[in-house]
Amino acid sequence: MSEKRYNIDRYSKKRDTEKSGEPGVKGKGQKRQPLFSFQKHHASRMHYDFRLAYNGVLKSWSVPKGPSTDSNEKRLAIRTEDHPPDYIDFEGVIPEGNYGAGKVLLWDIGEYENITTKDGKAVDLNKAIESGHFKILLHGEKLRGGYAMTRIDEKKSHWLLIKTDDEEADARRNPISTEPGSVKSGKDIEHIN
Ligand code: MN
Repeated sequence: MSEKRYNIDRYSKKRDTEKSGEPGVKGKGQKRQPLFSFQKHHASRMHYDFRLAYNGVLKSWSVPKGPSTDSNEKRLAIRTEDHPPDYIDFEGVIPEGNYGAGKVLLWDIGEYENITTKDGKAVDLNKAIESGHFKILLHGEKLRGGYAMTRIDEKKSHWLLIKTDDEEADARRNPISTEPGSVKSGKDIEHIN
């Protein structure tokens, strides 16, 4: 399946950013290359949006249960359309009547490294995503260490997000419930406005 399916044009088609208050595609265009984020999104269904800045866009997945720090946990991640780079640290309320209406909280952000290899050679992230498997190292405030993403259903754009069994893996930590606040404002979701 072509990457075109997730092209940023779909972002604009789905929304009127003048009305929604979300970043437009013609943002400041600052280099967000090495950043990832997770946004807690209280839309019609609560989920976490996983964003990876790459080549001027944010590769995006919706993770219903959010990420885990337990290497035995598999978390479903559904690919969604690329978002503009300025979306990486967006936080606020998307008003009723707009696509994805509801509160958005910046749950985690930080730099990441693409550590995907094949036959001992580094693989470009775009190619790795197209091939359905990549590995990254996260340097977030809440999430650290390796994570693997593997596509399990190309038609439905279903992937699994799994913590690598490294020194940052911790089955007892559960930051989704113990660290629910924003890394941007310190607010909990009910106080986002
Ligand atoms: Mn969302």
